[in-house]
Amino acid sequence: MHDNREWPQCQRCRKGVLLPLSDYGPQGNDIPFKIWACHNPACGFSLRIDKGQVSIGRPIRLKSETLETRR
Ligand SMILES: [Zn+2]
Repeated sequence: MHDNREWPQCQRCRKGVLLPLSDYGPQGNDIPFKIWACHNPACGFSLRIDKGQVSIGRPIRLKSETLETRR
């Protein structure tokens, strides 16, 4: 299988890809790739990793505020 896409395909809609989103910890530290979200708005699939535990299908809001890098 030759696939050049960098991101894994969404298993729910099979149209979008899962994009990694960073989050911030309690101390404001960076937590890279904590949430993976389908980039297909009609799907909204998300996968979240908390301390090694994976939760699937939690609705998350892709607000531009939360995606912005804090400085
Ligand atoms: Zn999807």
